[in-house]
Order: sequence, then C-alpha cells, then structure tokens
Amino acid sequence: MTATPPPSSVRLRSVLGSVPAYTPGKPPEPVEGLTAYKISSNENPFPPLPSVLEAIADAAASVNRYPDMGVTALTAALSERLGVPTTHLATGTGSVAVLGHLIDITCDPGDEVVYAWRSFEAYPIVVALSGATSVQVPLDAEARHDLDAMAAAITDRTRLVLVCTPNNPTGPAVREDELRAFLDKVPSDVLVVIDEAYLEFTTDETVPDALALYRDYPNVAVLRTFSKAYGLAGLRVGYAVAQEEVATALRKAATPFGVTDLAQKAAVASLAAYDELEVRVKEIVAERERVVAALREQGWDVPETQGNFFWLPLGDDALPFAQACQARAITVRPFAGDGVRVSVGETEANDRFVEIAGEWLRSRG
Ligand SMILES: *Cc1c(COP(=O)(O)O)cnc(C)c1O
Repeated sequence: MTATPPPSSVRLRSVLGSVPAYTPGKPPEPVEGLTAYKISSNENPFPPLPSVLEAIADAAASVNRYPDMGVTALTAALSERLGVPTTHLATGTGSVAVLGHLIDITCDPGDEVVYAWRSFEAYPIVVALSGATSVQVPLDAEARHDLDAMAAAITDRTRLVLVCTPNNPTGPAVREDELRAFLDKVPSDVLVVIDEAYLEFTTDETVPDALALYRDYPNVAVLRTFSKAYGLAGLRVGYAVAQEEVATALRKAATPFGVTDLAQKAAVASLAAYDELEVRVKEIVAERERVVAALREQGWDVPETQGNFFWLPLGDDALPFAQACQARAITVRPFAGDGVRVSVGETEANDRFVEIAGEWLRSRG
C-alpha cells in the first residue's frame, strides 16, 4: 500500500502553461470487419528494406555500449552524398531535436523566431520551451508561405526564421525565385532554417534545393530527416547542414549520445539503398496525385501539395470529419476549426479515404 503523495508544488516555468502538448497521431481504432489504417502522422507506409533491417539487427548486438558520440559513419556518408564538409553537418534525435538546438544556439529569452502559420505543430512548442518568442505570419489564401509578410515581420529581436517547404500540414512548397528574393532581404546575422522534411516527395521543378541556397547564403541552415522518405521515423534521426560556426555550435548543444548506433547504422544503410527507397517514394507521389485528383473531382478544394500528405480546409468541420473517418477505421489528423491533414498511405487506406470523403460531400448536399 502506498499513500497518495500530496500534489507537487515544484515551480515550473510559466511558459509551460501556454505550450500546447504535441498531439501525436492516434493509434488506429479497430472497427469490426475493417483493417485499421493510421494516415495521420505522415509516416512512410512501407516497412524497412531487408538491408536496413539487417543493419539494425547487427547494431542491436552492441546496445550495451554507448553509441559513437561523433556519429562518424553517418556524418561521413552524408558528407559524401551531399557534397558538404563533415564540419558543416550536425545530427540529432530527429530533425525536431536539431531544430530545438538551432533555437538554443541562436535565441536568448525573448528573442524572436519568425515562421509561417499554420505550419508544423512542433514549431510553437520548441520555440516556447527554449524561452524564445514565436512570431507567426499567416499563410496566404492558397495556404502558401507569405514570404513578403515574413520578411516584414523581422525585427531587431529576430534571431531565426523558419521556412517549412513543403509546408506541413498544408502542402505547398516555396519556389526558388521567391525564396532567393526573401533571403536577399533577411539580415545576414539572422539564421534562416529551411525545413525540408518532405523534399524527396517534391515534383515541382520550381522547388529549390536548399543546399544550393546554403552555399550562396552563409546564414542558411538546411534541416532534413530520415523519418519520412527514408522510412525511419521510429529510430529518430535527422540532421542540419550549415556553415561551420553554426554546425559546431549545434554539436555542442546536442544531447550527448543522442543518435543511437541502431539509428546511425539504419540511416547509413538507407542512404546506400536510396535507389530502392526512391522507387517507393515515386509510388507514394503517384498515389498522392491519384488521390488528390479524385478528391478535386468530387469537389474538394485541396491546396497544391508537394509532400506525402494533403490538406482539406474543413474549418469547423475538421473534428466531425475526422470522426467520420475514425468510424471507418481511418485515422487522420484534424486541426480543430481549421482543417484536416491526411497522409498518403497504403492503397486500401487511400481508397477508403476517398470513399469517405465523397460520402461526406454528398451527405452535405
Ligand atoms: C515530420 C517532420 C519533421 C521530422 O521530424 P523528425 O523529428 O525528424 O521525425 C520535421 N519537420 C517537419 C515539418 C515535419 O513534418
């Protein structure tokens, strides 16, 4: 028998009162007779490649040891693949962790981080926890970044600007010409972080390669992840490419031994197997085009998407629509009062989703 302890009177930072708890995609709820699908977290629906599973299994044999703190093998593999010096790379436990470190190394309390909104739900959380202040700039009518308004939002307190391209959850990517024009306006001492979590799914030729921008603008940092196209969301590994001063500071800020040996070996094996992974990425993109075309045909207003997901601007119907999906064992990601983000998943999941979406519109007349 243990007595119930009294409530904690530990003083927590006041910012926690305003930090939203990250809403993870819910596990799918079973519905009799239907296979449940979770298309709410932009995960890759394909299981790991055999070569990647083998690398993970090999690494499992040495989990009694700390991992390689320098993440040497992955850093070397990325350096070679991307054509950047190893000193310009910093890895972390997912790109969200690396983003947290980017804010930690640039922002003192009260400094400002400018980003578009609505965008990735982790942004306001990591900014607030670091003690910095979020400056959210509304997306334009087509759910795209309004880069002119973002440039205008930069003040003396701004230390970091985030550009999410393609934008999670709405889908559009920024174009290279507009991004360059924007970078020309940003003061050179403000770090611009280009979050390219979905880069591999882009098909529009006007989408920039942020690595070229990092070469042209020393205040650009590129953020990438193994969680989406590479299908390693469960292993938590992401990285930044930035000039040496920034990358060195990032490595100081990183959680010691954060990237596990399993994650490192799986990431290295995935880079080596990218040709195989790319076939899957192309299938996901083809599914995206098929599903979005079907939805538009039904009458849905779907913004352009360059990711492995799409956005339905449902407004106040976001939650009821998500419930209607759940009733058919499909989990999507609603943002109350705004819209629903749907990941491109297994073909059966996509087909069932299109059916539900069509019925929804018909039931609304
Ligand atoms: C999924 C996602 C990431 C990746 O997060 P990890 O921590 O690497 O899993 C980063 N940025 C955006 C915008 C995302 O949607």
